[in-house]
Order: sequence, then C-alpha cells, then structure tokens
Amino acid sequence: MIQTPSQTTTTGETRYDRHHLIRWWNQQRLTDASILVAGAGALGNEVLKNLSLLGVGRITIIDFDTVSISNLTRSVLFRESDIGLPKVEVARKRLLEINPEISVTAINGDLEFDLGVGEIQTHDLILADLDSVNARWLINQLAYRAGIPWINAGIGVSQGEVSFFDPNTEAACYECSISEKMWQRRNERYSCQGLKRELPQNTMPTTATIASTIAGIQVQQAVLYLHNYPGLLDSGEKIYLELTPWTTFKVAINRRDDCLAHDLTIKPTVKIKYDSNLTVKTILEQIEASGFTEVVLWLRNELIGTMQCLNPDCTDEEVVNRPITQYSESKLVCPKCGVERDFEKISYLSKQESNLDLTLQDLKLPDNEILHCETAQGNIAVQFLTIN
Ligand SMILES: [Zn+2]
Ligand SMILES: [Zn+2]
Repeated sequence: MIQTPSQTTTTGETRYDRHHLIRWWNQQRLTDASILVAGAGALGNEVLKNLSLLGVGRITIIDFDTVSISNLTRSVLFRESDIGLPKVEVARKRLLEINPEISVTAINGDLEFDLGVGEIQTHDLILADLDSVNARWLINQLAYRAGIPWINAGIGVSQGEVSFFDPNTEAACYECSISEKMWQRRNERYSCQGLKRELPQNTMPTTATIASTIAGIQVQQAVLYLHNYPGLLDSGEKIYLELTPWTTFKVAINRRDDCLAHDLTIKPTVKIKYDSNLTVKTILEQIEASGFTEVVLWLRNELIGTMQCLNPDCTDEEVVNRPITQYSESKLVCPKCGVERDFEKISYLSKQESNLDLTLQDLKLPDNEILHCETAQGNIAVQFLTIN
C-alpha cells in the first residue's frame, strides 16, 4: 500500500485533480489497488499506460517476450532503442516515468511456471491481454484457483472483445466459453501427451486504434469493479465491438455444467517455507508433521519422469524430470535408434512414488505457489512461501 501523498504544485493543483471532480471517484481506492497484467503486447501496453495514468498503486506485469521492431506500431511504451530488451522491464521503466507515485513489479516469465497462486492472491484483479486460447485458459485456471476476478480482452484488425469473470460468483468462466473448435486450435500446438509442437508463432494483423479502444474498455471495467460501481459487464458477460462497420453488442456466456474450473479455488491449510532445494520427501514429511496422513500432493504442471525407447532392442533411457509443456515433441524420437520413446507422467507426489528426491527447482514450482493436496483427513491446500 502506498501512502505517499500526491505531489502538489505551487498553484495548489494535484496530479489527480480531474479525477476528484468525478462524483463517484475514489482515488484512494485506486492508490490502494493491486492489479496483475498478463501480457505486455499491443493491448498490454495500452492497459498499463491507462493504469499508471489512473494512479493504480501496485501493478505487476508478466510476459516472457522481448521488444521487436514490429511492436512499435502499437506499443506506446516501447522505443526503437528497446529492441531486444524484455518487454516487462521496458514497460516498468516507462510506467514509472509516467507516474512515479506507483510501484511496478516486472516478471519476465511464463504464466505456467513463474507465477504462484498465492502471489496472484495478493492482487485485487487480473487483466489478461494475451494472444492465444491456451494462455487465456491458463489465466482462467490461475484466477479460479486464486479466487481473483479477471478481465479478458482480445483484438483483431478492427474488432475486439472484453469479458469479465469473477470466481466468487456462479456465472460462466472463460473455460465455459471455449468451443470445440477453439480446443482443436489450441490442441494443434500440443501432442496428445501434452508435449509442445514446434510450430511458428501465430501473428495477427492489428493496429493501435483497436488496441487502445479495447484496452480503454477493459480498464474502465477494472475501475468500475474497484469502485464497486455498476460495471459495463457483469461476471460471465462479454462486450463485442467492431469499428468498421460499427457494431457492438453484449452477451451473457452460458455456464457449462461440466466445466471443472469452478471448483478449483484453494485456501492454504499448511504453509511450507519455500526453498528451491527442498525435496519431495521433506515436503511430505512436513505436511505429515502438521497432522495429515496418506498425503497426495497434486502438481499444477505434470512432469515427464523417465523416457524409455519403445524399441525392444534399444537400451535408451533418459531421466527427464521436467514439466511436460517445457519439452518439445521432437524429443520423443530416440536419439540412439530413431524409434519413438514413451514416458511416465508424474501428476502427483506421494510416499509410494519413486520421485522423492525431486526438488522444488525440478518441479519448477515458483515461490508462493499453492497446491491441492489429498489426505486421509480430507482435502487441503499447501502453500510454499519464502518468509522474509
Ligand atoms: Zn467454467
Ligand atoms: Zn531407441
């Protein structure tokens, strides 16, 4: 929480004077707010710019990409001299220039591995400015695990959409809206075992005008939500907007009865001090020491254990112990004989398994992660947290 008073000039004018003229506005609410922005592309740039201008006190940005020349037509925060630098670092620097009164954390990383559920729970809201169904599906999973509302946005050439999902309601979530066709498109990028296919990145035609229009709607929804003021959208609703020809409509997404995302929310029961060298054996012992037995700890990201060649005459065996989605499909070909290899999938950890020496580092578990855990005493959640 930032307590620094806003700077006042000799004329008595303050940074947020125009905001104070709005009848329902609460600048302190924005100063106290914490927003996570996933994606620092065209939409993300506009969203981040808006959040810093508005004076949102704490902003976290996550993106794994670097600035490239083709970003410069739509990214207000990037310059030619930034090419090659991590987007989140450049964005952080520019946001602090726009508004030195806010705090900005940059995570140059991946949604799957570099953002713990407990860390997400330190935010009021998530704004997702991502470019694939898979990334949106991931953020939906994370938001529902954390119990934190999120606002989705997407753009095309001259059309875009914004939708709002609050895990604390019974309304539809993003996963409810994923059609068979969208799953198919998502699955094209993964093998049936979940390994990554080496396909070129999707590049979409788009411009700055639609990015700023849609980002404006997305951030306005965030402002209204933070004020508890009637929003543009209710949970489970989507606004669709087309600039050419002008079309706009709002729809309520139908909740699917078989959607599993709604039951994910977890509140930690057991806390374990985060240390990247901590082994599975120690973790299970610590959970047991808290009074639980028959502990089964479910991973958020499944691992490949040992890979074995399917050729009976080949001796190839490789201990991988890495998350499946970090491994490319091409690795399924045996380097010795060229025949296909198979692997054991590690989805959970228990004393009955042979992977007790794996560490948090091997599991690619970020700090402040929370995992589901089954025990003889019922389901609990375990939080891994560095205590300062
Ligand atoms: Zn759902
Ligand atoms: Zn082989």
